[in-house]
Amino acid sequence: MAVFVMGKNQQPLMPCSEKRARLLLQRGRAVAHKRYPFTIRLKDRVGGNTQPLRLGIDPGSRITGLALIRESVGEQRHVLRLFELAHRGFQIKKALEQRAAFRRRRRSKNLRYRAPRFNNRTKPKGWLAPSLQHRVDTVMAWVNRLSRLAPITAISQELVRFDTQKLENPEISGIEYQQGTLLGYEVREYLLEKWGRECAYCGDTDTPLEIEHVVPRSRGGTNRVSNLALSCHPCNQAKDNGTLDDFFATDKGLKKRLKTNGHTADARLERVQRQLKQPLRDASAVNATRWALFNALKATGLPVAVSSGGRTKYNRQRLGIPKTHALDAACVGAFDMLHDWAVPTLTIKAMGRGSYQRTRLTQYGFPRGYLMRQKQVHGFQTGDMVKAVVPTGKKAGTHMGRVAVRKTGSFNIQTEQGTVQGISHKHCTVIQRGDGYGYHLHPSPT
Ligand SMILES: [Zn+2]
Repeated sequence: MAVFVMGKNQQPLMPCSEKRARLLLQRGRAVAHKRYPFTIRLKDRVGGNTQPLRLGIDPGSRITGLALIRESVGEQRHVLRLFELAHRGFQIKKALEQRAAFRRRRRSKNLRYRAPRFNNRTKPKGWLAPSLQHRVDTVMAWVNRLSRLAPITAISQELVRFDTQKLENPEISGIEYQQGTLLGYEVREYLLEKWGRECAYCGDTDTPLEIEHVVPRSRGGTNRVSNLALSCHPCNQAKDNGTLDDFFATDKGLKKRLKTNGHTADARLERVQRQLKQPLRDASAVNATRWALFNALKATGLPVAVSSGGRTKYNRQRLGIPKTHALDAACVGAFDMLHDWAVPTLTIKAMGRGSYQRTRLTQYGFPRGYLMRQKQVHGFQTGDMVKAVVPTGKKAGTHMGRVAVRKTGSFNIQTEQGTVQGISHKHCTVIQRGDGYGYHLHPSPT
């Protein structure tokens, strides 16, 4: 795992190894500048040689993977740091829904008059829901933070699930899909999207899906994508060389599965036939948040290379790399080899900066308790990363993590092993001030 290095005037230099950072710190040539992600600042150097650094981004709805990669000749990638950014889009959505519900109550109850406000605002072009805008904003915040810590020269983003350009016209041009090729992965991602990630026939979701010829090869069916569907193993086996109509009319196993999934045979058959004729539009495979992120990334001025989920998967399986969000980010785009990928991942969790509302409510909206007015207690604030050294007692030892302050001066610390309660402020020292994120370092999956 690499350590970020800054020059004397806080300009980003090439990250160095942990060992080198330790030596620099021991010899007094550098000071620790930041704890998360660990950054040192050199006391004597201003500039230095830099190499091309790429930031890989795999945007997700819950977690976005980020990977800092050094690039060398021959399309080689060396992983320097891995990050997983956990968003709080779902909490934001919940909070806004709750606020809306409270307002609704205030309007309908016999309280002071409040003018109706619901249809009197316009949304600007490119507007995203707050929970989605938050995803773009937090990713951009971290792209900007990381480019202040390392001399990033390029960005790779996974923009689309599959590359229609690569497939040319998947509905009309014939392609021989093959397991293990890039095209094979693009076709698979395309089919997953087209058939809604479920068995096209019975609607099973929690099962491995196989590529299926709707009109069997033996009956003159082609390898074209327009003749392909995804089905579960039992459906694929049962349909075999039969026609679609026969399969739906006679197969008992299918009827059983349809029933458990709440479908009727006729409606399902009609849906399959309709889907087959309908080519998937480009836009439906790309979501608005990813596009908004792409436009924001372009605005940084760095070259942004976009790639598809099919290619990420192809790279990951070709190189035998485990599936994590951070490693997916390292596998985005076109390259030959990925080195040094077995490094710990820093999980960055968006925590917010506390609540404006001082009254805690029950689920019915009645007051349950009140939060204190002041934010600081003995110089600590909820969200600070602290180190507590407790000399004696039940909680003796060293605890490191995110602190939650209480007026009494007895704090809770969220450590990697869980929450430790009732630690006196006297034992705590701040290692990094709260910045709206919680940090945890997770070991590599291998
Ligand atoms: Zn099935």
